[in-house]
Amino acid sequence: MIRDDLTLQTDLTEHGQGTGPIRSRRPAYIDFFPPCNNACPAGENIQSWLALTQEGKHFEAWQKLTEDNPFPAIHGRVCYHTCEESCNRGAIDTSVSIHSVERFLGDLAITEGWKFSKPKRKTQKSILVVGAGPSGLSAAYHLARLGNDVVIYEAGPIAGGMMNFGIPAYRLPRDVLKTEVARIEDLGVTIELGRKVTDLLAEKTSGNFDAVFIAIGAHIGKKTDIPARDANKILDAVTFLKDVELGRAPQIGRRVAIYGGGNTAMDAARTAKRLGAEEALIIYRRDREHMPARF
Ligand SMILES: Cc1cc2nc3c(=O)[nH]c(=O)nc-3n(C[C@H](O)[C@H](O)[C@H](O)COP(=O)(O)OP(=O)(O)OC[C@H]3O[C@@H](n4cnc5c(N)ncnc54)[C@H](O)[C@@H]3O)c2cc1C
Ligand code: SF4
Repeated sequence: MIRDDLTLQTDLTEHGQGTGPIRSRRPAYIDFFPPCNNACPAGENIQSWLALTQEGKHFEAWQKLTEDNPFPAIHGRVCYHTCEESCNRGAIDTSVSIHSVERFLGDLAITEGWKFSKPKRKTQKSILVVGAGPSGLSAAYHLARLGNDVVIYEAGPIAGGMMNFGIPAYRLPRDVLKTEVARIEDLGVTIELGRKVTDLLAEKTSGNFDAVFIAIGAHIGKKTDIPARDANKILDAVTFLKDVELGRAPQIGRRVAIYGGGNTAMDAARTAKRLGAEEALIIYRRDREHMPARF
């Protein structure tokens, strides 16, 4: 018989390990989180809501996103988008602009008036959350979606914590912040403002709460040891930004020096310029490469 194939059949009994009929090794399938998802502090299922957005299913994408994070319009604006630093696409050309899509979905939800669906079943448990910053609000949101009754006691005059008193309004417009907070209230979460908790156990007992979540943040500004600091007009940035937000901006001179190279320093410098300073000079102890501020 004349054979017309150019290559002979492989002798599978002689073939190298791992393939052929006699296998000693098999592939192992391991599910990892995608790198973007893994790098998102809010743990968002990014690839899933990106795919839905691409299909034009915007409401479903927003629902998928808010399963993990109730603040897409806020995060789309001010999150440092660590997801994008991990994006595989970055190795090809540039990473997917995940935070822009998140902001688009968040803004669309505001325009369309989308609401969170209320839980179908109640647990009959009630939980006290102390502090209405992003941590307390997110915890309250997730607890309420699980069917718990949730009350937040907030010491300040407004909900939002540092989103309101730290991040300047030019980066996070207050109507966006208020709308995303109001949506959590609409879910059934009660926020009591001007309610500072000083005795946690007494509050838990008198309110008949089953559990307490403490989310009081870290509001005290870090003071640096500057010689003769009391001889000069030196403010800490947290107090400065809070005073500006409360409409009691201090009188600043024409030249303002900001000591530090982090995000708070950048916010303080930009705010000083907006208040009319001719020069806002950032002084940092190391070089520009080592400045911790993110873009
Ligand atoms: C200037 C500045 C800019 C920032 N920019 C960004 C940014 O761009 N992106 C980013 O991701 N993060 C940013 N951050 C960080 C971010 O704001 C914080 O990580 C975040 O707000 C912390 O959330 P939290 O809920 O833990 O605390 P907080 O936001 O501090 O909220 C705590 C809340 O608890 C309340 N509270 C405190 N004590 C009591 C009490 N005894 N009883 C009742 N209520 C109480 C407070 O009034 C406050 O409302 C910035 C921070 C600052 C200061
Ligand atoms: S921008 Fe959104 S998806 Fe990216 S890390 Fe921040 S919260 Fe997560």
